[in-house]
Amino acid sequence: MVSLLLVVALAAGLWQLSKARSFQLFGDIVSQVETSEKLIALTFDDGPWNADITDQVLDTLNQHQVKATFYLNGKGMASNPNATSSIIGHGHEIGNHSYSHDRLVFKTPTEIAYEIETTNQLIRSAGYEGDITFRPPYGKKLFVLPHYLSQQDIVTVMWSIEPETYSEINKSSESIAEFVIEQSKPGAIILLHVLGSKNTHARDALPSIIDGLKQDGFEFVTVSELLEKKS
Ligand SMILES: [Zn+2]
Repeated sequence: MVSLLLVVALAAGLWQLSKARSFQLFGDIVSQVETSEKLIALTFDDGPWNADITDQVLDTLNQHQVKATFYLNGKGMASNPNATSSIIGHGHEIGNHSYSHDRLVFKTPTEIAYEIETTNQLIRSAGYEGDITFRPPYGKKLFVLPHYLSQQDIVTVMWSIEPETYSEINKSSESIAEFVIEQSKPGAIILLHVLGSKNTHARDALPSIIDGLKQDGFEFVTVSELLEKKS
């Protein structure tokens, strides 16, 4: 009985550890940056899946003169090279969000290396020259992934504001925008999934999020620019 409880407690501990936003066993992990400057980063996960939707998002960012950071999947880039080039051509930052978008826990070192390196190669061959940080699919990481990333000097970037996680907030673009603006503070990292065909609320919330935060005096920066403020 005691040993069963121990196993359950250990499993619960590992599960908590795997999704922790500001702690991992190896290497740098960042979910927000301590700064008094009103800087904030918009980050978009997954894809690209669809050229029209990508263009729509890029138009919105262009109109508002905002640079964002896109955490892309190797699989999405391989099947949508034009959308990938478009994001890079507009001067946005690109991060690595794995090749397959599988949960990268309990994977072998070879599988982890494939997920990271194939995706980095796709990002480079699409013409991106900036720093590449990594965001784990579902925010999940445990042993092998953080160890590999720290050996390669790749920073793990999580987030501090995630409106789509809460069904009550995710029900409309208005509630998403309101939540993000309320939760925002200097150095925050906002996570949205604006490239997904189903994520219309998040996509529609973008103009209000940008306008609202600008009115509050925030300046939008990329993840790399925000990391430069890290002490
Ligand atoms: Zn994702």
